[in-house]
Amino acid sequence: MRIAICAFRQESNSFNPVPSGLDFYERGAIFEGQAMYDFAKEKQGTVGAMVEAVEKEGVKPEMLCFMSALSSGGPATDEVVDRFVERTTSLLKDCLPLDGLLVSLHGATVSESHEDVCGYILEKLREQVGPSVLISSSYDLHANITDRIQRNADFICGYQTYPHVDFYETGDRAARMLLDSLKGRIHARTYRTNVPMIVPAGSYTTLRGFFGDLIKQAHAMVDSGRILDFTVFQAQPWLDVKEIGASIITIGEDETQAKACGYELAKKLLDNREAFRQDLYTIDEVIRKAEANTTGKPMVLCDAPDSTNAGACGDSPAVLERIKALDSDVKAAFYLRDTPAVEALWDKEVGSVQHISLGGTLCRTFYGPVELDVKVVSKHNPEPEVSVAGSGRVVVVRWRNVDIVVLEYISGSGNPALYRNFGIEPEDYRLVNVKACTSFRTHYEPISCEICETNTPGAAAADLTVLDFRKLPKDRIFPFADISDYRIQEPAALR
Ligand SMILES: [Zn+2]
Repeated sequence: MRIAICAFRQESNSFNPVPSGLDFYERGAIFEGQAMYDFAKEKQGTVGAMVEAVEKEGVKPEMLCFMSALSSGGPATDEVVDRFVERTTSLLKDCLPLDGLLVSLHGATVSESHEDVCGYILEKLREQVGPSVLISSSYDLHANITDRIQRNADFICGYQTYPHVDFYETGDRAARMLLDSLKGRIHARTYRTNVPMIVPAGSYTTLRGFFGDLIKQAHAMVDSGRILDFTVFQAQPWLDVKEIGASIITIGEDETQAKACGYELAKKLLDNREAFRQDLYTIDEVIRKAEANTTGKPMVLCDAPDSTNAGACGDSPAVLERIKALDSDVKAAFYLRDTPAVEALWDKEVGSVQHISLGGTLCRTFYGPVELDVKVVSKHNPEPEVSVAGSGRVVVVRWRNVDIVVLEYISGSGNPALYRNFGIEPEDYRLVNVKACTSFRTHYEPISCEICETNTPGAAAADLTVLDFRKLPKDRIFPFADISDYRIQEPAALR
């Protein structure tokens, strides 16, 4: 049996004006062959699980190409996508004929030329392996599953958790679908049920609430044997593309049951769409609450609209601007991406006071820079391999009672290590700014007194109606359109 594995991963945000070029992937991960194997085994993520599942069958997988950006971001350049397709197909040629192909994707990726990069990649791979070779694929829960993806992939398995913690399990599920099919242990097909809605990522979690219950219900369908696998995909909503929406994937041997399960889950998601509307604080309200915060624990200002995990720029100084405008002396911790500021501060003495313009260097659509007199506190140049959060040079500055981490690149934006690595302990502050959607909750819920979802400006705006969507069919998609008359279409298998 011959199985090959490849991976291409980045979540895109159409409203981030900075394209994600090859340099952004080089700062992330690019591996081929043995180096890809070693990286996957060490990381124990989705691809590592695929490798181990194949090896358990006594087969050594053919490792093709792995490309993952440093973080989410603006649309990928054509150079990035072309490089992946060219390298993967070239390496694939030497492995043919194959029995199966495992592909790990994000699923919500756009590029300069493609609105559906993952569908395009799968189509290219399908062309090469032929129509009868099984392709099983894995995705983020925020994937935008399109017809093109479904036409080319036999199996579609996405994360079942948000915050995402089941990377390994998802790779294992995708691999088992493929291997069990090849060994004749199952005879299953993949069905998709569409729901014409997009909702901001910060408005739900699988840990609790309606969405948590929906996931529990889906697990019960697997446990009772009605289906073999499921994913509730909530498309990343900051994609300005023509084909987008939530979708339920059910994989099963019994067509009637797989369709019924898909329908039940889709109906429940559709009927509860209003549950995803968020109550948001204004920035001023959170600053005032934090000033009065005497719990001894920090209050988190969730600046999700500027989350680099959601593809925003991470360079919004909007909260600093409001602290300045309110003349507040709140003890706060803040971070942002600003390469020119790092450049300007890098050769300044620690302890010196500098006049600096902060933020708004990448994205100017939603906010502008703020002018501050800051004191240089420390400078860092972390090695990429020891830096779990942040990348490139870092300067910490103090302005009034605010400690500000200024970074050349942000990664791991929901991880307190982004502060701790640079000498700032979030628990020592009354207000901690976090530019992340939901991922940060696993880290911050245990150490904070309250998490305040805040209506800050940014490319990942929580209020989708403020964004300038041009291609998205607003007349047919919630929350832009009233879809109360929408009837769920019959779940479909395209392979
Ligand atoms: Zn996600």
